[in-house]
Formats: sequence, C-alpha cells, structure tokens
Amino acid sequence: MRVLGIEGTAWCASAALYDSETDSVVIESDAYQPDSGGIHPREAAEHMRSAIPAVVETILDESDGRVDAVAFSRGPGLGPCLRIVGSAARALAQTLDVPLVGVNHMVAHLEIGRHRSGFDAPVCLNASGANAHVLAFRNGRYRVLGETMDTGVGNALDKFTRHVGWSHPGGPKVESHAKDGEYTDLPYVVKGMDFSFSGIMSAAKQEYDSGTPVEDVCRGLEETVFAMLAEVAERALSLTGRDELVLGGGVAQNDRLRGMLEAMCEQRGADFFAPEPRFLRDNAGMIAVLGEKMARAGDTLEIEDSAIDSNFRPDEVPVTWREPEPP
Ligand code: ATP
Repeated sequence: MRVLGIEGTAWCASAALYDSETDSVVIESDAYQPDSGGIHPREAAEHMRSAIPAVVETILDESDGRVDAVAFSRGPGLGPCLRIVGSAARALAQTLDVPLVGVNHMVAHLEIGRHRSGFDAPVCLNASGANAHVLAFRNGRYRVLGETMDTGVGNALDKFTRHVGWSHPGGPKVESHAKDGEYTDLPYVVKGMDFSFSGIMSAAKQEYDSGTPVEDVCRGLEETVFAMLAEVAERALSLTGRDELVLGGGVAQNDRLRGMLEAMCEQRGADFFAPEPRFLRDNAGMIAVLGEKMARAGDTLEIEDSAIDSNFRPDEVPVTWREPEPP
C-alpha cells in the first residue's frame, strides 16, 4: 500500500510517501522560521498555506500517480495550521478518490519508533516541542503513564533561549553550549509519574540574569530536565515490567538525552531505540507510516467526520492497527 502523509501541526509543513511493500519513506519538508521570538500561530498558518501545496506536489511527483490513501495530522497542534492541513488532505482524498485517515500526531511520534525498531510492546517517551509524555500500550490504547504538568519539554528550552536572545529553535543551541559548560544546580521537579518544567525555566533565567555563564546554565538544564525524563521512563519500565523503550519527538535529537536513556536501559537490561533524526522532529513520514497501518485496519474517516482536534490526546485514540496484548 502507498500512503501520502501530510503534517502541519505547528512549524513544519511536510508531505511524505510511504510504500509498505518496500518499507520506504520519502519526506519533503519546509520549516517555518520566525523572524523573532517563538512560533506565532498566525505566521505559522500563513507558512502552511504557502508551503503545503509545494511539498505535496513534490511527493505526488514521486508517487507516479499511485496513492492508495491520504493521511493527515489531525491534532494536537495549532488550530489555524491544522485546519489548512485538514482541508488539503480532504481535497486530495476526494480528488484521488482514496480513503482519508486522521492521525494523532503524538501517537505517530511513538509508533514510528515501534515501527523502525520492531519492538513489540515498548514503553514510549515522547520528548517533543509542545509535549512530554510517557506511554505504554494496554487494553487497546496508549495509556499516558506520566506527562508534563505545564509546558512541553522543547518549548521550555526554547523559552530560556528566547530570554537569552537566541533565535528559534533553542534546543540545538542549548545542546551545543552545554558541551562547554559546568553543571549548574536547578530545581528538579518530578511528582509521581509527572514532571514540571516551568519552575526550572524561571530558575534558569534567574541564573543567567545573575551572571552565571550561559554554557553552565545550558549544561544544568540538560542534566536536570533529561534526568527527570529518564527517571519517569525508568519507573514506567519498572512498573509495567516491560524491557523495551522507544524515544520520539524533536528533543530526542539531543545526544545527551539519548545517551542518558541508553545508559539507564543498559543498566536494567532493557533495549533502547530512537529513530533517525528525520523521524524525530515533526515530519510527514511518521504520519504516512501510521496512516498506512490505520488504512489497512479500515480505520478511515468520512469527510463529514474529519474535523481537526487541536487538543487530541494520545489516549483518546482506539488502537485499531495492533492485536490486543494477551491477558
Ligand atoms: P509537538 O510534536 O509536541 O507538537 P513541536 O511541533 O514543537 O512539538 P518537534 O519537532 O517534536 O515539534 O520538536 C521541536 C522541539 O525540539 C523544539 O522545541 C526544539 O528546540 C527541540 N529540539 C530540536 N533539536 C534539539 C536538540 N538537539 N536538543 C534539544 N532540543 C531540541
């Protein structure tokens, strides 16, 4: 089956073609880069409007006219962006006369790791811009075992770098500056299985304002925030008895985060997998791959039922494409 995927929840206008016979994915993306500050929803939507037709056209050229379904990111994300992507997907599905599939962006972030790793029942850590979740599949859904109580993990790093005056996105800059820094102590906030990043960001800004070298604050940020993610991921492995962990989301491009999780998994005899970077940041490849699984399971949408959902939680999605686990 060949599925055209379209992604556009926030900053990345992207289209992809997934061919399940060859397990190959071609992705074409066009990123929105704000002139100043963070992501402005109206500007991001304008970017979607101008960039989506071009990325889709490139992928349609790749398809030689063979597309069996159109999948789109239905949410969560910025409403104005999602509406543009939804309209494009509906129009394409009708024009090509193929089924329409509405994909949950967060489930796509974790399913791509399961798909690429071949793991059966992993614990999944989503470390993305607007979110942070630890999930595991149980009784037909991805259950949220832990999540952020305030801001997403990437957005938290971006808020600190905006304060420093660096351009968006801030995560890669935190990573490069942290390499030259000494550890700075920052508040560590894990409550049960949930984490909070907003207090750490305020403390990091105060450290920077009081003269602590920015490299040291970046190092403290990485060590603190990623240790929190690793602690909850480890507890999730322990509580579920699972021995596989997959990582997803744009922050997963960070070498230190991957290194910490790899070390934690090695110490407890678990397997760890993170897909290659093109599948970690927002991309339509993950939408096309999950879209193919959903289409094969008959999990498609009628046009009149295909409204976007900007607050679409991963645990709202009935997992139709997997066998339920044995009791
Ligand atoms: P979501 O997927 O939750 O909707 P999103 O759309 O913002 O979030 P992603 O592409 O998953 O996007 O992640 C983008 C985030 O990843 C940004 O906050 C960015 O700063 C962060 N990021 C990118 N590279 C790195 C890195 N090397 N280290 C840390 N963070 C990074």
